[in-house]
Amino acid sequence: MSDSSAGAASRPLPYGRQSIDEEDIQAVVEVLRSDWLTTGPKVAEFERAFANFCGAAEAVAVSNGTAALHAMMFALGIGPTDEVIVPTLTFAATANAAVFQGARPVFADVDPETLLIDPASVESRITPQTRAIIAVDYAGQPCDYPALQAIADRHQIPLLADACHSLGGGTPAGRVGTLAAMNAFSFHPVKPLTTGEGGMVTTNDANWASRMRVFRNHGITTDHRQREQNGAWFYEMVDLGFNYRLTDMQCALGLRQLKKLPHWVQRRQQLADLYREQLKSVPAVTPLAVRAGASHAYHLFVVRVGSDRQRVFTELRGSGIGVNVHYIPVHLHPFYQRTFGTHPGLCPVAETASQQILSLPMFPAMQDADVERVVQALAQAVA
Ligand SMILES: *Cc1c(COP(=O)(O)O)cnc(C)c1O
Repeated sequence: MSDSSAGAASRPLPYGRQSIDEEDIQAVVEVLRSDWLTTGPKVAEFERAFANFCGAAEAVAVSNGTAALHAMMFALGIGPTDEVIVPTLTFAATANAAVFQGARPVFADVDPETLLIDPASVESRITPQTRAIIAVDYAGQPCDYPALQAIADRHQIPLLADACHSLGGGTPAGRVGTLAAMNAFSFHPVKPLTTGEGGMVTTNDANWASRMRVFRNHGITTDHRQREQNGAWFYEMVDLGFNYRLTDMQCALGLRQLKKLPHWVQRRQQLADLYREQLKSVPAVTPLAVRAGASHAYHLFVVRVGSDRQRVFTELRGSGIGVNVHYIPVHLHPFYQRTFGTHPGLCPVAETASQQILSLPMFPAMQDADVERVVQALAQAVA
């Protein structure tokens, strides 16, 4: 016991890490011995289990979270001259998905307490060209969906969720995956569950789900297995799609991971409580606020640092603690400044926050002692 805690003090601690057990490995190996490596039975099985978990009618599996966002844009028929409102404090892929369809992303600012998309800023960005709003459940916390939905309804614009951080979370109104008209997920290794690479969209709209199933398969209406089962060779490409399919190996892994997700989210919430308790003694470091009634899935544990963030970052990395910064506001990336003329000053709250935020290590296999180690290192770094 004392040996392992001595080891823990110097062991590199990443900001996020997957949990894979022997059963997960066996599930993947079984698929490798079966007839179908892709477009096989595990895909529909994973989709059904995922839809049931969220409480959504439909789930469409795709090859990654970016493909999930792109598929939502396609389902809505987003195209050139359209505008899509996204928060600027997100991973670039949220905005890129609109650009893939030829549309213009319009950047909304975030709430200073939670860093979630600010409904008032969304409202101020709406124009006659606005065709969708994508809310991002930053760090794993569900956005203010009632306020966003009221704006979306008033202007008759679909409200979508980039829920890549928040799988397993929820609000009094329901689970993440049901809070917007379509909801995108990522199964990258640092995300709430992993299939290596992978993604999903949930929706209650059968027509959108069917459009996305065609989109992920080159725009072709039947897949390889459906044709084999029908004894038919004929197929038609009805739209321009992509190969955005998820393999059966990945879906088998996802099915196993999904069973463990509730337990993992609970553990993340415990670790967050521990961070909050221990950080009370470090006044220069403030965790982000949690909205009343929100069940936060804690993909990330983000704090604001009141002193020189770069120095704190460097010192923690130097002691093997994998802190990170999520994110540089997307409108400040050179591509967006060059292509869409965005510039500093457009989203002042996010721009200020991005100079102060730090993501601390957060993953289910973390020990309580790891939290203590991070908080001690932080206390020293800000002193
Ligand atoms: C991870 C992530 C994505 C993209 O998911 P990939 O699976 O890496 O393509 C999109 N949006 C957010 C907020 C993410 O965190």
